[in-house]
Amino acid sequence: MRARGGENIEHRTGELIAHAVRAGISDIHILPEHTTYRIYFRVPAGLKKMMELTLEMGERFISYFKFLANMEIGERRKPQSGSCSFTYQKEQVELRISTISNYLYQESMVIRILHAEANWLNQEMEVFFRSDYQEIERLMHYKSGLLLFSGPVGSGKTTTIYHLLRKKYAEESIQVITMEDPIEIKEPRFLQAEVNEKAGLSYETLIKQSLRHHPDILVIGEIRDEETAKMVIRSALTGHLVLATIHAKECVGVIERLLDLNVSREQLKQSLIGVVSQRLINKNCVFCEGACSIYCTHFPIHQKRAVLFEILAEEELKNVFYQDERRPQQLRMNHKLRKAYGCGFITQKDFQDHQIF
Ligand SMILES: [Zn+2]
Repeated sequence: MRARGGENIEHRTGELIAHAVRAGISDIHILPEHTTYRIYFRVPAGLKKMMELTLEMGERFISYFKFLANMEIGERRKPQSGSCSFTYQKEQVELRISTISNYLYQESMVIRILHAEANWLNQEMEVFFRSDYQEIERLMHYKSGLLLFSGPVGSGKTTTIYHLLRKKYAEESIQVITMEDPIEIKEPRFLQAEVNEKAGLSYETLIKQSLRHHPDILVIGEIRDEETAKMVIRSALTGHLVLATIHAKECVGVIERLLDLNVSREQLKQSLIGVVSQRLINKNCVFCEGACSIYCTHFPIHQKRAVLFEILAEEELKNVFYQDERRPQQLRMNHKLRKAYGCGFITQKDFQDHQIF
């Protein structure tokens, strides 16, 4: 889209913010590039170019946002920051605006949109197969034991855990203590502790301290060493429901990883309730005929993707422990991918890209 000149700046900047809010975008970048200004939206894959403006129009956009955020409009050399509110269809979002200029004193601006965070967490999670999610919810009924989550960085493991905890918390009064590095989702109803190795607050120390508070549920951000693994198992065996993430490609890999960290097979048999592995994948959008485009306004951004779960629990989990001959590891997640593809929920490309070999 190439922008025309003489339009009303107030209207155009308003349209820009409204578009970003509708799409659930968190950052808008207005950047000078040689002889033009370009506007980008930050999307999961990076920056997506949305609009090109003349230098003059770009400067007018920036000046107008500076005016809205009570920043000094004439000051172009020093970095500035400010904030303002914006109302779109009765919903108010907060804008945090900052500028910095290059050696030509051309300013770049980043507008961060703070959506009401609670909104999407209170909604149902976007999942491909609801029955899988319900199976995990059932595993949350155990009073003690270990429930593990794995998946690549950015696959939404923490989001899954918080959805489960909030649901559970809404049903019964429980005490939840989390230990994370760092805390990604703030939840005032839980006791959230942050790992700080420099201050001597390792996962191990935090787990020891939190056990004195007799929590119902303990959440451990990540099991990454032997000490943490042992503490996690001990907590799970002493009457706590423990949720933790661990790095592995899929469910069977999680068990192997724990064995590598010198947890015994016997300890695992006694404590492990289930293993969940997840992928966050673009939904096949019927309107876009493929993965949803940024211009698609049929879904806000957090609904453009959904989670695919692989779950290992109950009988299947026992089988893994008692079988000497194990099935090929990649079978289970790939089977789920094939099912999602077969149902038309994901594109062929995403089906292929997420296969485990
Ligand atoms: Zn779409």
